[in-house]
Amino acid sequence: MKALVYNGVGQKEWVEKPKPTIQSATDVIVRVTATTICGTDLHILKGDVPTIAPGTTLGHEGVGVVEEVGAGIRGFKPGDRVLIACITACGSCRNCRKGMHSHCLDGGGWQLGHLIDGTQAEYVRIPHGDFSLHRIPEGMDEEALVMLSDILPTGFEIGVLAGKVSPGDTVAIVGAGPVGMAALLTAGFYSPAKIIMVDMDKKRLSLARQFGATDAVDVSEGNAAEAIMAMTDGVGVDVAMEAVGIPKTFELCQDIIAPGGRIANIGVHGTKVDLALERLWIQNISISMGLVNTDTMQQLMRSVETGQIDPSALITHRFDLDEIVEAYEVFGNAAEEGALKVLLKAPAA
Ligand SMILES: [Zn+2]
Ligand SMILES: [Zn+2]
Repeated sequence: MKALVYNGVGQKEWVEKPKPTIQSATDVIVRVTATTICGTDLHILKGDVPTIAPGTTLGHEGVGVVEEVGAGIRGFKPGDRVLIACITACGSCRNCRKGMHSHCLDGGGWQLGHLIDGTQAEYVRIPHGDFSLHRIPEGMDEEALVMLSDILPTGFEIGVLAGKVSPGDTVAIVGAGPVGMAALLTAGFYSPAKIIMVDMDKKRLSLARQFGATDAVDVSEGNAAEAIMAMTDGVGVDVAMEAVGIPKTFELCQDIIAPGGRIANIGVHGTKVDLALERLWIQNISISMGLVNTDTMQQLMRSVETGQIDPSALITHRFDLDEIVEAYEVFGNAAEEGALKVLLKAPAA
């Protein structure tokens, strides 16, 4: 089969590789029908994720059809259409029982396209298949569901739920990339009064307005903190979500948060960030952060099924799976290409 393999910093290749086989009774082999590229894959190629070994197939998002199941699998059979969670979890270890699937102690957590071969391939092996796969209801838009492997639950769990978005709140989302947009789409569940989208890309900001942002702040047009304070009568925002992962954007969140507010950090940070405790403590601010658990996937799937959210709107480019190297180019030059999410489809079997 073909797979997109990480060959060391800055190097990737679409190569022939052996098809994965069942290694444990709880494994499921999935034929990938659609996958996508994540900002995290670009971080890996930049060298930000030293835990990945050269030769690993990239990718942790996708949908597909069950090809083969291990002897211990109860919930799936060959031919079932499935959504793959970016987090692998056994469902029964101490951390899984606390709902902390991202830190599953039994070979789980962020495994796919990191510690084991991922989804940017014709076939993928999913450990703990019963818990790490989700059945796709009949007649659902599978392209939209690829957005549910990672970005929708990340924006929802780490942004909206951790930030406790409530009716009437003023929310700022700093970063209008795919995860910021996912937070925007799912913040709507809680009817905030105002959602201010903050970015430096005009195309993304106008797209955010189509997705329900009430206001947009272009950081390239002056002091963003002052602009947001002016929009909120000098009070600041109830929830500030950081969806970039650099010190400057986290600092902006600290500058615009209202007393009693919540800063929800979604961004993946590579360097330390100054925490203005001397200003924040007296303002009753809480700060949250984390890796997605993906335990809201069923909930989000129902929201897509009933038309409450349409994550397929995040897909700006479509490619055949074997054009993946070209797709990386487009996704890597997102600003010039106007790219948000690129969808890669395998030819029909
Ligand atoms: Zn991802
Ligand atoms: Zn576990």
